[in-house]
Amino acid sequence: MSSGGDNVQIAVRMRPFNERELALESPACVTMPTEHMVVVTDPTDGEKQHSFSFNYAYNSFVDAHDEAYASQEKVFDDLGKAYLEAAWAGYNTSVFAYGQTGAGKSYSMSGYGEELGIVPRGLRELFARIDANQVDDLSFRVEVSYLEIYMEKIRDLFNPKQAVASLKVRESPKLGIFVEGLSRRAVTSYEDVEVLMELGNTMRTVAQTNMNATSSRSHSVLTIYLTQTRVDQATMTASDLTSKINLIDLAGSERQNKTGATGKRLKEGSAINQSLTALGNVIEALADNCMPAEQGKRRRKRIVPYRDSALTRILQESLGGNAKTIMVAAISPAADNYKETLSTLRYANRASKIQNVAVINES
Ligand code: ADP
Ligand code: MG
Repeated sequence: MSSGGDNVQIAVRMRPFNERELALESPACVTMPTEHMVVVTDPTDGEKQHSFSFNYAYNSFVDAHDEAYASQEKVFDDLGKAYLEAAWAGYNTSVFAYGQTGAGKSYSMSGYGEELGIVPRGLRELFARIDANQVDDLSFRVEVSYLEIYMEKIRDLFNPKQAVASLKVRESPKLGIFVEGLSRRAVTSYEDVEVLMELGNTMRTVAQTNMNATSSRSHSVLTIYLTQTRVDQATMTASDLTSKINLIDLAGSERQNKTGATGKRLKEGSAINQSLTALGNVIEALADNCMPAEQGKRRRKRIVPYRDSALTRILQESLGGNAKTIMVAAISPAADNYKETLSTLRYANRASKIQNVAVINES
């Protein structure tokens, strides 16, 4: 068993200026003085600074030749290897990306073009490991599922017929939390997953907002189910080591007034934020419960409101449960995004207080 703060790791990643920020000539308001520290300065009052400390502070804002530059490779070397290692050992693991639209969530998770993110790099490495471990008494099974949560409805991105149906989250002693009816596909290579995900992505709900040309307004969850079956040659009995890897790209966390949303977009925004608000409440309750009690007093544990949204139900095991979890908080360097950046960092800071207890799944 592995417990304590180590099971929840928080990484903050700052992207370069985008076209819009360059055009605005917005100054930068974030610095990362060490590999762990993030400092934000109030653009209206240079004296007002907020300092945070995280497991990782990734600076992708500095020049790519700078020693401090956090490349896709560097981020994978830390975070990707960590989640793979945990999954390989039989732990459930989750990586989720949080942040305002355009802050770099999808860049970190999936990546763009040659700049592969931690999901494709992780899958490549997973299959490479499987290839390197081909021995007689050991066999592997890898399955994937891919879903989207849009306005509190869950849709299966691998099953076009079911596209508009809303799937339900269930819980069982054997399976833990699962989405009923969600299809799983067996895969034997990264390319298998890539093809499936490309198909799935064409079904994702995307819409135009002012903040980002094709910002995703929905949360996506790619789950990898890894089963390692070992046959004891003496007794010819088989035992399974299983792991569930959740890779989550959340919808933008921004408040609606800045995106110029109206009508359906606005309603959509509030439903998306309902999920993120619920996530925030879950994080807050968990963080509170992990605070040490005052001397001589017993602390009453708060009820964690997992059932308030589809997102928090699905993430239940990842947050405060049986899992090793990594949160990637994506931020913009620009003063123009000061409020959103500060809000993301506060969110991440709260999440860093959570302690998960992780046990391996052996049967
Ligand atoms: P989000 O998924 O949070 O809405 P994206 O990941 O799509 O945002 O990023 C928005 C834009 O910024 C993309 O064009 C992406 O290539 C670029 N970008 C994001 N993070 C980085 C980074 N670390 N380095 C370079 N470009 C980045
Ligand atoms: Mg995105």
